Amino acid sequence: MERVQAVRGMNDILPDAVHWWQKVEATARQVLELYGYREIRTPLVEKLELFARSIGESTDIVEKEMYAFADSKGQWLALRPEATASMVRAFIEHNLHADPLARKFYTIGPMFRHERPQKGRYRQFHQIDAEVFGIDDPLMDAEVMVTLCDFLQRLGLRDTGLHVNSLGCPACRPRFREDLKAFLQDRASQLCPDCDRRRHVNPLRVFDCKVDRCRDALNDAPELGQYLCEACRRHFDKVLEYLSHLHVAYDVDSRMVRGLDYYMRTTFEVITDRLGAQNAVGGGGRYDGLMRDLGGPDLPGIGFAIGMERLILLLQQEKTWDSKKPDVFIAVVGDEAVGQAFRLAQDLRTQGVAAELGHGGGSLKSQMRRANKMGAAHVVIVGEEELAKGAVVVRHMVSKEQRQVPLEDVAAFLAGKSTIESL
Ligand code: ATP
Ligand code: MG
Repeated sequence: MERVQAVRGMNDILPDAVHWWQKVEATARQVLELYGYREIRTPLVEKLELFARSIGESTDIVEKEMYAFADSKGQWLALRPEATASMVRAFIEHNLHADPLARKFYTIGPMFRHERPQKGRYRQFHQIDAEVFGIDDPLMDAEVMVTLCDFLQRLGLRDTGLHVNSLGCPACRPRFREDLKAFLQDRASQLCPDCDRRRHVNPLRVFDCKVDRCRDALNDAPELGQYLCEACRRHFDKVLEYLSHLHVAYDVDSRMVRGLDYYMRTTFEVITDRLGAQNAVGGGGRYDGLMRDLGGPDLPGIGFAIGMERLILLLQQEKTWDSKKPDVFIAVVGDEAVGQAFRLAQDLRTQGVAAELGHGGGSLKSQMRRANKMGAAHVVIVGEEELAKGAVVVRHMVSKEQRQVPLEDVAAFLAGKSTIESL
């Protein structure tokens, strides 16, 4: 029979890897809650219009990467390619702005983009996403970046760089856009077909192109930083000043435009050089007009998203985290002992001791081998001989010490021990 396989670019996360995910998620929750973020969980499917209107019609995501489909009633829907639009929609829909304390939100989960799968780039991938609504103070731009860096640091991630830029605002960006358009017109013959089209509809997107000859063509392109209006300049200077206050290292990267149209003013990315072309671990920026454009109150917003696959690939290059091991393996010798062993396993679990029962019998030797393979800290040997005396043998796997313990004391005895302690 032919096997049905997973969709290309959509991965199973198996037990041997899942503890990395759990650790990253737990750390994210811990750090984000420390900074005052509260979780929102939004649906994976939204109306297509939400993404078209927010991310922008002429972005790669909306033009090429969306999983969009009409349902049986002909309504156009899409699997979410990112979380910001959904977070803003939920904030508006539930009038969360009525609560002056509801400002910071996060969500963790899968996103979908139809891209060419390769290392660090998948069609279902996962993001940790954080958003702050209603605060336009440059201090918040700095705090958001500090939050991102703090999280990565607590995970022990090394060798990443923080790139920062300002994209200006509707007052100053149009002038830059016009000059860039003129510049690109002169170099049209050097551009890839995509960029040749982009230079008309959305010239800033050309900076996002990964084709070498487009990058070369941009070598002496006009710099956004030179075009910032007074207000944007002041905002950006403040952001950088606040970052310096906390001794956060950064590079100003005037070529970084990010792939979504809703950004304005501050944008940032955390970059690595250890994942080939997939060099962004996470990124974000300010999107002050977005909530109004989606029919909500005119509140500013800023946020970031971290790609969990890339983050975990990097962490796996530099450290080892063991998966959870059983605290105790219960080896059963003789059929008569099975019932007692089953009860003991249940007692232990009730008291929070992770117990693995030697199902299926086998010799004591083969059960010990299994316990060893599983990495159990202790083995409890439940044998008919000891049971006759109301006891079992507890063995510490590292020191190989063993001792007889009355059956009713085993749970208390093991519950009081850390997994590395000997008997
Ligand atoms: P890239 O330039 O690598 O395509 P992006 O700018 O499209 O990234 P964002 O929309 O900013 O990415 O998403 C934030 C993060 O999500 C990225 O920095 C990356 O870590 C991760 N990410 C984005 N697309 C994918 C994908 N297809 N597979 C895995 N991770 C992804
Ligand atoms: Mg992309």
